[in-house]
Amino acid sequence: MKLLEGKVAIITGASRGIGSGIAKVFAQQGANVAFTYSSSAESAMALENELNALGIKAKGYQSNAADFSDAHKLVDDVIAEFGTIDILINNAGITKDNLLMRMSEEDFDKVIEINLKSVFNMTKAVQKIMLKNRKGSIINMSSVVGVKGNAGQANYAASKAGMIGFTKSIALELGSRNIRCNAIAPGFIETEMTAKLNEDVVKGWREAIPLKRGGSPEDVANVCVFLGSEMSAYVTGQVINVDGGMLT
Ligand code: NAP
Repeated sequence: MKLLEGKVAIITGASRGIGSGIAKVFAQQGANVAFTYSSSAESAMALENELNALGIKAKGYQSNAADFSDAHKLVDDVIAEFGTIDILINNAGITKDNLLMRMSEEDFDKVIEINLKSVFNMTKAVQKIMLKNRKGSIINMSSVVGVKGNAGQANYAASKAGMIGFTKSIALELGSRNIRCNAIAPGFIETEMTAKLNEDVVKGWREAIPLKRGGSPEDVANVCVFLGSEMSAYVTGQVINVDGGMLT
């Protein structure tokens, strides 16, 4: 049985990394997938073709999640093309790491806008159709860093912690309408975002994780399937760590 058969999902930032992994696993589970990207048009097109070949409907949209009107236009376009929206995954995110002493105002603002304001933009935009449908699942990609903090990532950690507060508030606000909102806190997931890191540092991280490995995009995608499907019908307002036991 496919767990997401016929459901329509919007996934932000799916041209690579975790988002791309979620899009593929969602398509395998029978979901129709609308996804966004910022500038990677070529990989977005390749993903769109790969997903459509699985027999579901898929389309990539260039859309800046940090822009309020872009987010609303995206949602209108997706409803026109796909008919409805059942699942929203706020996955788009960036890092601009630095010690506070060296962190510029611009780098603070950018990270908050792309990681946190985007969640407000997209959730507000999908709210109307989910209220009308009297159902929906919103999944926000936070981070273990948002739960415990991290030196050199004050902007990123603040954005990810902010997502958790937003998630819990929306769960409280929209629960009576059968709209659920949960967050995922991935630990160290091996993607392009983490490939920029020093190999020795990465080795040390793997060793410190109880399961002795970095996670894969599929590890995160599988939890998204759970949260997007009826399997989690009584789960809302939660933060689920997908971190190999890192925060234990
Ligand atoms: P990634 O490989 O760098 O991919 C980021 C994705 O977001 C890309 O598809 C990118 O599009 C898109 N994006 C960036 N800015 C955007 C914007 N303004 N509007 C729309 N899309 C935008 O990142 P990742 O490692 O897969 O991470 C995905 C999410 O998981 C992020 O929120 C990240 O903070 C979170 N996370 C990651 C890890 C990890 O270990 N990797 C751990 C915890 C949390 P383009 O390709 O067009 O640039």
